[in-house]
Amino acid sequence: MGSGSGSLVWFRKGIRIHDNPALEFASRGASHLYPVFVIDPHYMKPDPNSPSPGSSRAGLNRIKFLLESLVDLDLNLKNLGSRLLILKGDPAEVVIQCLKEWNINKLCFEYDTEPYYQALDVKVKNFALAAGIEVFSPVSHTLFNPNDIIHKNGGKPPLSYNSFVKLAGEPPSPLSTVYSSLPPVGHLGSCDISEVPTITDLGYGDAEQDEFSPFKGGESEALRRLDECMKDKKWVANFEKPKGNPSAFLKPATTVLSPYLKFGCLSSRYFYQRIQDIYRSMAKHTSPPVSLTGQLLWRDFFYTAAFGTPNFDRMKGNRICKQIPWKDDDKLLEAWREARTGFPWIDAIMIQLRKWGWMHHLARHSVACFLTRGDLFVHWEKGRDVFERLLIDSDWAINNGNWMWLSCSSFFYQYNRIYSPTTFGKKYDPNGYYIRHFLPVLKDMPREYIYEPWTAPKSIQTKANCIIGKDYPMPVVSHDSASKECRRKMGEAYALNKELNGLVGEDDLKKLR
Ligand code: FAD
Repeated sequence: MGSGSGSLVWFRKGIRIHDNPALEFASRGASHLYPVFVIDPHYMKPDPNSPSPGSSRAGLNRIKFLLESLVDLDLNLKNLGSRLLILKGDPAEVVIQCLKEWNINKLCFEYDTEPYYQALDVKVKNFALAAGIEVFSPVSHTLFNPNDIIHKNGGKPPLSYNSFVKLAGEPPSPLSTVYSSLPPVGHLGSCDISEVPTITDLGYGDAEQDEFSPFKGGESEALRRLDECMKDKKWVANFEKPKGNPSAFLKPATTVLSPYLKFGCLSSRYFYQRIQDIYRSMAKHTSPPVSLTGQLLWRDFFYTAAFGTPNFDRMKGNRICKQIPWKDDDKLLEAWREARTGFPWIDAIMIQLRKWGWMHHLARHSVACFLTRGDLFVHWEKGRDVFERLLIDSDWAINNGNWMWLSCSSFFYQYNRIYSPTTFGKKYDPNGYYIRHFLPVLKDMPREYIYEPWTAPKSIQTKANCIIGKDYPMPVVSHDSASKECRRKMGEAYALNKELNGLVGEDDLKKLR
């Protein structure tokens, strides 16, 4: 046991020094500061049964991104005379053990609205309070406190973006604390502390994955990337979301700050402030929902809806989700997941997901619509699971919210508007550079067939070294008839949902099948 006033700051998300109220409060007046991150083996352990490298919960790209973020945090803490203490095990048990072992007066951690953390935090908080330890758990992952918005809306989350924006107002400013040093780490007792592991330490082989995400984790990289984006003031002021090019991959059309926001390497309040600074210096700028600040508000919108909606991550028992008799077709799901649908635009996006863990928003629209109400009529929860595991920005509230949106299960209901898997991408990239990059099997297919290679004459397929049906699959469905059938089923399901006022049970779903 050490003496004096010890503080434990427990990092989970919020992997940063800037605008970190938990860190600031923990370090204020403390004689010793214990910065802790607990590696949960369930999240990290290699799963040989998963269809691609990684654990059962996270693809290897996201695990690598997290480890890079931890290395960077450790380095930044070391520059301030501290270090990151890595422990392993069940996070609640490990933190409670640390509180028992060290002389801690204050426990500080960022408030988290996800059900997983809500359950975890109750356990740790209860122990700490019973032991007379002060607990400080501020909201700093989002612009606003979802609790406040729900309270302002009479106890329910606003379910439209406009009503959310009206209630929200202006977000609080980020903290401007600049540290010259942090209190030293105290006596560590018998706790098993290690350095940040590498992916090899976690049991992943050297040649586990042939291509890693080009996006490197960490606060330093987040701030560098943010500075880079903010340099082009005109681009920031004119940012208009649906207008970007989803096939741009050498220089993506949007910021690619989502993985940094997901892990809290970047504070959304700081990001928001930087955009506002630019707006103030420009004669005109775009506005929400399409502007860059509008994107950050979308993020908070989904966080608030998710926090205030029981069973937000499933169709059943979710009062805001339409009950739709989705097909249980593992073959179609697998073809989609493994980039074997035979539609190059869809398959290239799914390869980008596997290799990079990030795709443009409209690319996500395309594949999510295709899997669900557009063509395959597979349950949105199945697609959500694939994204949840493979995205480096995988985010519980945003991912579930967007899957419900794209499948017309909630928030958006124009199920007649379907993305074409052959013409949508062509508008942006008629030569198919994106497809050729992510699906090199099609790299020599002539321009006129790149989006529909099955229509190429045999002689052309031979010349392009790509025989459809052998080197690259035939389409799994005919888009024209599949999308027609999807519209019909959605119409029926909507009618029944209306009749039953959303209270649809398993028996009603059977009626629809
Ligand atoms: P920018 O356009 O530069 O926007 C800046 C930030 O605003 C983003 O980093 C993100 O935090 C936020 N943002 C932008 N669009 C949205 C949106 N539609 N909803 C909520 N927040 C938004 N985003 C995730 O961060 N995690 C997910 O798991 C996720 N799953 C998705 C699943 C589907 C089916 C779809 C259609 C979209 C999903 N998105 C998700 C939303 C969006 O596609 C990404 O946030 C965006 O493409 C990230 O790129 P960016 O950082 O360049 O975005």
